[in-house]
Amino acid sequence: MEIDTIKIIIYVLIGGTILFTLIRLANRPKKCDICGAEKSNDYYINESCKYIVLCRNHLAENWKKDIKSSKYTMMVIEPDFNTYPGGYMYANTKELKEWQYPESAENNINSILDKISGNKCRECGETATVAYFKKDDYEFPNMENIKADPTYLCKSCTSVKVAPLILSAPKAFSEGIMYPGVDRGVYHVQEF
Ligand SMILES: [Zn+2]
Ligand SMILES: [Zn+2]
Repeated sequence: MEIDTIKIIIYVLIGGTILFTLIRLANRPKKCDICGAEKSNDYYINESCKYIVLCRNHLAENWKKDIKSSKYTMMVIEPDFNTYPGGYMYANTKELKEWQYPESAENNINSILDKISGNKCRECGETATVAYFKKDDYEFPNMENIKADPTYLCKSCTSVKVAPLILSAPKAFSEGIMYPGVDRGVYHVQEF
């Protein structure tokens, strides 16, 4: 073999090894930002829209903490992570248009949010701040069609219902679980 051919073979081998290593590193489960536990591919999208890696326990804990400290009313749709495992998104009512939700959906969401005030949490009797819907009340992704009566809840009792679903979700939250944001809105599963 000529020297040039040998050189080319060596370059290809080195290049291939580097590429292989990079792909392996990229796919390797990452460490939880809070406790350092390995094997996490779950993401949380924080208040700065930054994706942070968390283990499943801290993902649920962080979400609970953030929703409980949010002062906005919200509509929460029971997540079906078996069918839509990607993420749990929060769209505030101003973002619905950007997210291509039809006006009829926006109007329905606003009218549901308007009715929360004055209700008591069904579980604990505190002031209700959430209109909670069962996943069967929702024909994905058509929020304009939600006509069922919600269960009125406080944030704490809402988190007690949703956190176990986050903990037992079958796949990694590759699209992330989202911080509730700075306006009233709706939590729903991620379509993609
Ligand atoms: Zn952790
Ligand atoms: Zn309650």
